[in-house]
Amino acid sequence: MKAIRVHEFGGPEVLRFEEVPTPKPAAGEVLVRINAAGVNPYDTYMRAGTYALKPSLPYTPGSDGAGVIEAVGEGVKNVKRGDRVYTARTLTGAYAEYALALEEQVHPLPTNVDFNQGAGIWVPYGTAYHALHHSAKAHASETVLVHGASGGVGIAALQIARAMGLKVLGTAGTPKGLELAKQQGANQVFDHRKTGYQEEILQATDHRGVGIILEMLANVNLPYDTKLLANNGRVIVIGSRGEVTINPRELMARRASIRAFTLWGITAAEEADIHAGLFAGLENGTLRPIVGKVLPLAEAARAHKEILEPGSAGKIVLVC
Ligand code: NAP
Repeated sequence: MKAIRVHEFGGPEVLRFEEVPTPKPAAGEVLVRINAAGVNPYDTYMRAGTYALKPSLPYTPGSDGAGVIEAVGEGVKNVKRGDRVYTARTLTGAYAEYALALEEQVHPLPTNVDFNQGAGIWVPYGTAYHALHHSAKAHASETVLVHGASGGVGIAALQIARAMGLKVLGTAGTPKGLELAKQQGANQVFDHRKTGYQEEILQATDHRGVGIILEMLANVNLPYDTKLLANNGRVIVIGSRGEVTINPRELMARRASIRAFTLWGITAAEEADIHAGLFAGLENGTLRPIVGKVLPLAEAARAHKEILEPGSAGKIVLVC
């Protein structure tokens, strides 16, 4: 089979398109024919060797894939050959024609969701769902600011928050991203490249502040976020690419808090809750993964460059 292999940590050029043996499922495992693989920012940190999780080399990247069960190992009960699934992690990597996964790492893909969309489910929607439901414990009467609403996690958060009944504010850095955020559920949008946009956000809340901020770039925004919060507000740190200094008095004055998580650290019960919520939302159409760009698997290096560039507009997906 064809697969992307990383033999050494480094820049996008270390992603090599190679021929490797197709794996066989052992007991409790399934083999998935991967039709599409989702590209996430953490794939690039892992490839660079700078992420908390460092795979042993060589490895194939990718936790998010969508496709069809090709074969099942002994004892597998919940899926069978021919089932449409999305993956939430794999054993051998989703940037490949086939991936081995544990039975519990594959989840049913509703028939109204295509494979390219299916590749954009686990990390983006799992993160947004966990942030709103489990971490923020959001209520319909609140306002949420999705700070970085044009990318994978941001679009998922807009759709989930609107379905939960919240008032939703979103930011993006390009006209295309702002338009997309509006289409996908933001009641109001703000340009995070414009000087003074934080004041516009405060005005939109009649200077009461927002109850929840889902933060995609904490190292840039956290000092301002603490000033945008309402009483008892909370910032949920989802993404950060460096260090930052904040004034804790801004939190004290508002009885506010900063919470943070990684999707890898959630409990099995939280994960089960996420998959149940996502299946229902995908099936009833309230959750609709947006694919911004489809590239051939062989162009994984290009995908890794482009995902870190400004101007997000949905997911980047690799197909083979
Ligand atoms: P993505 O698809 O590449 O989107 C990045 C988003 O960040 C875009 O909406 C982008 O907007 C926005 N952005 C750029 N500059 C910004 C600024 N100054 N202020 C606010 N937002 C800004 O990435 P993603 O998949 O949505 O992931 C977002 C972040 O969360 C990444 O850092 C990722 O590593 C992290 N993440 C963490 C977890 C976790 O478990 N904690 C899980 C998933 C993702 P424009 O391009 O329109 O400027």
